[in-house]
This record gives sequence, structure tokens and C-alpha cells, in this order.
Amino acid sequence: MIKSKYLENLIDAITILPGIGRKSAQRIAYQLLNSNPEKSLHLAEELKNIENKISKCLVCGVFMDIEEVQQQTLDSCHICERQNRDTSVICVIESASDVYTIDESTNYNGYYFVLQGNLSPIDGRGPAEIGLDKLEKRLTTRNVSELILATNTTIEGEATAHYIKNMASQKDIKTSRLAFGLPLNGELGFLDNETISHAFNERKII
Ligand SMILES: [Zn+2]
Repeated sequence: MIKSKYLENLIDAITILPGIGRKSAQRIAYQLLNSNPEKSLHLAEELKNIENKISKCLVCGVFMDIEEVQQQTLDSCHICERQNRDTSVICVIESASDVYTIDESTNYNGYYFVLQGNLSPIDGRGPAEIGLDKLEKRLTTRNVSELILATNTTIEGEATAHYIKNMASQKDIKTSRLAFGLPLNGELGFLDNETISHAFNERKII
């Protein structure tokens, strides 16, 4: 059967979305083709903005608008720039969206550091790939006394926390881990604010 090569390309492109296999990609592609072209173009524009308009805070790693960086000639985001932050504490997080979850659910006043996912050697994600070299540099150059590990409680999240704990121990930095109330194999983004707040305040030194 002869198919449109552009349709095939579209299906291939859609498969990069998390959790979307070829069958689902095909379904989405046909839905897009059958929907109002303006909607698809709008989606295309928004996707382009990933490259052109959004960047990462050089300090913590949350996403911010490039124009904001240009206008303010700042390297860091609104969270890092907030007044009276406690520079001696860094909360290490797996995903940028979890920064907001913790920030909204707790009265934490230190800094954040967002990893690029978690350690997974089988997928080619070693310490440098997830940004641990940058974290190590930060621990060396700043006067940090506590690292709060808020990685997910999945196997990979635990392995990542363990690796960071060893790194911090070598520099005599205390590490704590969110514990109480967090389900095993859980992801922070799926929890309610109260659970996160409790887990944060009840964190344990590890
Ligand atoms: Zn920041």
C-alpha cells in the first residue's frame, strides 16, 4: 500500500512523545489530519517555542522564558532570585515540575537543583548525563550544609539518591530524604500537597 511519506514522517515524529507507541501515534496523526488545521498549526508553533523561547535556569534548572533572561540580564529564575533564600540548603529533584509542587506545598526556603531524570546506565544515563557533575561543582563552590533528596521513590530514584548521598558524604554534607507518607515506587507529581508537605517536614537524615 502506498502511503503519504509526510504522513509517515508525522507518525514517526509523534512516537517521540512519552508513552506513545506506533499505533497511538497513528491514531493521533489521523485525528490531527481530521481536525481544524489551525489547531495543528498552533500545536506546531508551541512546539517550536521549545527551541526558541524556553530555556533553563542556569542555577536550579527550572524552565523559564528566554526573553526574561535577556530583559533582566539574569541567569537565574524567579525562584532562585527570591529574597532571603537559604543558600546552605539544596533540594535535589528529578523533574522541573516537582520544584513547583514542593514550593507550593512546603515553606522550604532553600535552593533547588533539577536533575535531567534519574540514573539508568542501561539507557545510557550516567552521572554526567543527569547533571550530577554540575551539582558536584555547586557543592564545591557554595557553602552547602544540607542536601535534601526529593527524587522519586522508584528503583531508579532510590539509586540516584544513593549515588548523591555518597557524593555529599565525601564532602561532609548532610543529606536527608523525604520519607514519611511517600508511597514506594511513587512519583512526587502524583501526590497531593498535604502528603508532600508532611514528607518534606518529616524528612530523615540518611
Ligand atoms: Zn532557578
